[in-house]
Amino acid sequence: MALIVQKYGGTSVGSVDRIQAVADRVIETVKQGHQVVVVVSAMSGETDRLLGLAKSISQSPTPRELDVLLSTGEQVTIALLSMCLSDKGQPAVSYTGGQVCIRTDNAHNKARILDIESVRVHKELEEGKVVVIAGFQGNDEAGNITTLGRGGSDTTAVAMAAALKADECRIYTDVDGVYTADPRIVEDAQRLPCITYEEMLEMASLGSKVLQIRSVEFARKYNVNLRVLSSFKEGPGTLITDEDEQMEAALISGIAHNKDEAKLTIVGVPDQPGIASQILGPIADANIEVDMIVQNVGMDNTTDFTFSVHRNDFEKAKSILENTAKSIGGKNVTGDNKIAKISVVGVGMRSHAGIASKMFKALAEEGINIQMISTSEIKVSVIVAEKYLELGVRVLHSAFGLENGALAEN
Ligand code: ASP
Ligand code: MG
Repeated sequence: MALIVQKYGGTSVGSVDRIQAVADRVIETVKQGHQVVVVVSAMSGETDRLLGLAKSISQSPTPRELDVLLSTGEQVTIALLSMCLSDKGQPAVSYTGGQVCIRTDNAHNKARILDIESVRVHKELEEGKVVVIAGFQGNDEAGNITTLGRGGSDTTAVAMAAALKADECRIYTDVDGVYTADPRIVEDAQRLPCITYEEMLEMASLGSKVLQIRSVEFARKYNVNLRVLSSFKEGPGTLITDEDEQMEAALISGIAHNKDEAKLTIVGVPDQPGIASQILGPIADANIEVDMIVQNVGMDNTTDFTFSVHRNDFEKAKSILENTAKSIGGKNVTGDNKIAKISVVGVGMRSHAGIASKMFKALAEEGINIQMISTSEIKVSVIVAEKYLELGVRVLHSAFGLENGALAEN
């Protein structure tokens, strides 16, 4: 007998029929001899509807009251699913986050889970019940309702699995796993049977559509076996685990990409100590996250300094930089918000040289110019013009032979 946490997202519980189908799957899992805890999202569109209501009443809704409102979405689903399970003859009980003591900090609308008291849930499971828990919410120390940020039900499920020491946390969603690249760009992208936590975090651009990234961080911290699978189609999905638990770690797992990038260059600044901090300090102070940084060495004691930011921060960063240019004596500021990032990701890179050069060669053969480069232990990323994004992803997918599945390292 295993203890399984199953999480169903909004589309999976989006209608009465779908809730019925979820109930059937839960019952099937119980019949296989397992204890089941179910975490659910609000029915699809519900959280947006509630947000819209709040906005129509108030321009800037009080964060505390917004949480009181948004948490009702999940409360509807737990009640409906529990009723449905009972009607089908499976004893079930629903709980809100607060009722199962999911304690969070008091950062309304983006709270973090601090701890979970699992005694009550274990007791219900021992009595043969399925426990249905509202995702996305908890209580702070003072008993206020809090919510965990959009997509937060994934994190509830993983946290619940960690607290209960569950054997597996299964996230049922509308895709059947994590792919070697975005299947909308690469037709022959393959589903990965398994991937490490680290790779999943690096593949955020693919993964974040599938899982709230924070839930992956949580799973890594507490070593929760996390499986992403489809609620509409049978299949093993993708298992996200520790590297040691994977039979064959892949050399390259996939090609990730991100369109939301922009870059800025400050030209002709004096090449002297302290210049990088004078340029990036005001950017950091404005809470703008910097991704890649490149500094070119100039001939005449000046240098060009380039960095990339999220596209939404482009205008703000540009005006800050223009001020900086005036105060430190830079020539001018240029920028480009039509760029994209492509990354080759794989834990096997740690022990294999030559991944980067293979990547650069493949891009060069298509005439794709690389504007910036950054590397980590398990990733090589390049910035290219946005118009080359799709071509670049396809070229790299085939250069690394990913149409045959992730390459095993050996
Ligand atoms: N209902 C919340 C949302 O739409 C939380 C979740 O679904 O995970 O973001
Ligand atoms: Mg989701």
